[in-house]
Amino acid sequence: MSPSMSSPDSDNSSTSSAPGSVSLQATAVVPGVGYAPAVWVRPRPELPQEGAAIVGGDVDAEIERFRAAATAVSERLAARATQVEGNASEVLLATSKLTLDRGWHRAAVKEIKAGVAAESATMSAIEKFVEMFKAAGGVMAERTTDLEDIRDRVIAELRGDEEPGLPAVSEASVLLADDLSPADTATLDPELFVAMVTSLGGPTSHTAIIARQLGVPCAVAAGAGLNAIESGTLTLVDGAKGVITANPDPEDARAAVAEAERMAEKIAAWSGLGRTADGEHIQLLANVGDGNAARIAAEGAAEGIGLFRTELCFLSAATEPTVEHQADIYASVLKAFPESKIVLRTLDAGSDKPLAFANLDHEDNPALGVRGLRISRSNSGLMERQLDAIALAAEKAGRGGDAPTWVMAPMVATLEEAEWFADLCRRRGLTPGAMIEIPAAALMSHDLMKVLDFVSIGTNDLTQYAMAADRLSPHLAYLTDPWQPAVLRLIDMACRSGKDSDTPVGVCGEAAADPLLACVLVGLGVTSLSAAATALPGVGAQLAEVTAAQCADAARAALDASDADGARAAVRAVLRLE
Ligand code: PEP
Ligand code: MG
Repeated sequence: MSPSMSSPDSDNSSTSSAPGSVSLQATAVVPGVGYAPAVWVRPRPELPQEGAAIVGGDVDAEIERFRAAATAVSERLAARATQVEGNASEVLLATSKLTLDRGWHRAAVKEIKAGVAAESATMSAIEKFVEMFKAAGGVMAERTTDLEDIRDRVIAELRGDEEPGLPAVSEASVLLADDLSPADTATLDPELFVAMVTSLGGPTSHTAIIARQLGVPCAVAAGAGLNAIESGTLTLVDGAKGVITANPDPEDARAAVAEAERMAEKIAAWSGLGRTADGEHIQLLANVGDGNAARIAAEGAAEGIGLFRTELCFLSAATEPTVEHQADIYASVLKAFPESKIVLRTLDAGSDKPLAFANLDHEDNPALGVRGLRISRSNSGLMERQLDAIALAAEKAGRGGDAPTWVMAPMVATLEEAEWFADLCRRRGLTPGAMIEIPAAALMSHDLMKVLDFVSIGTNDLTQYAMAADRLSPHLAYLTDPWQPAVLRLIDMACRSGKDSDTPVGVCGEAAADPLLACVLVGLGVTSLSAAATALPGVGAQLAEVTAAQCADAARAALDASDADGARAAVRAVLRLE
């Protein structure tokens, strides 16, 4: 499954193996495992009626009542800012200031002067600003939570109600929320809240920023299915995989926590390049979607970028971005790693990532339709312009010589497609490669490598297509599992072709983020692993514990297993992790 593809509105739930337990797939933000009863943040107040009139009609008194409430909320937030440090304190102070911001106050006072009660005036004034922030998109859109939080606090204050937000807990808890406000997360005690999950939010939301700072395992964008987990339900959160399980098997959950604690110790002690215990170098690379993620990755363990999903930059674009505009975006990623390996993927539009300017209007079965490279076979200008933009970005970023620009095509199925793509790349001085994410490409890998300089295995789609199981289906998690021996055998095939032709074989699907599976992949012959930057230290620490020979043994054991769980168990036994 691709956590990044989870829609906040979708129900990402699936039943897991323990009876009565339910798993949700979310976007992984902070690795680590937490297991405790769930608690929901105190609900937001019910919103007032739009345009409700001032009781008693005294406008001046109502303005005074509004200002006093906003000031009280702002002062409380400022006081809490003094009780915490660093980023948390800054976030609280920023929210405190925003509570008194003149822009929305002016809008609220204008409403009150028109006879609207302070509660309704607060609501509609904030609503205007929320719409503006949403229209601005990106990081601004994620800040709408801050505004809505202020609205709720001021309305609660006006009504004399308890402030909405974090519940007071006295025992370890898993915090659940639609989206956490900055004020909630800033005062969150990591000793008590062992994990947090939001149904909405994004990787740059305040929830994510503060969770990272506190080191609390965290997943966001879990979808509407999160609402089914009631306060008090024992909940297991795996922040590295973004998996939330309600009512897990208690023994499994405790084992997962113990394993995470062991791993956390190892990870804390690990630094440096990806290497096995006997010194075999495995490149650890980051998967990114924009320049910001690339810069964050550059601060961590990543040696470079193994997958830049360029299509993610244009999900809301109505028309094709110009070559210049594309080049600026690509250059912002290239500049984050000026001298390192960077692999850009050409637009993988279609299926779960439709692009308005590229996709066919309607397809009954888009996952098997005109997606990825296939789009540019009937619209070659789209590919040519993107490659021109990548070449221009490489020039802007001063790449070349020892820092070649690697470009790969998604959804390659035939040798002819690979030849076509490689030719377009070479004409522009770009190094051509392809994703191996269709079983046909793994089966034909030997031939593909005659015309390509590298391949990268997309285990998310390779699993989906090998197992004929929709990667977004909440019901097929047991099939959409890259540990399936059928998938591993396809990877093995590609790795053998890579060894025969001396072609680098990387993995950039979610499988690369699984430390145990990473050992298997290395044993199969994979030379680079690309995953979310937060997952890399976990992978690096695990690889540092095993020799290349142990990885090879683990790979053989996994290939010989008859199912995914069997493969996991066999590998754990080979690596003596039981
Ligand atoms: C994959 O399929 O494994 C992959 C990395 O591509 P995406 O998840 O973007 O489809
Ligand atoms: Mg894919």
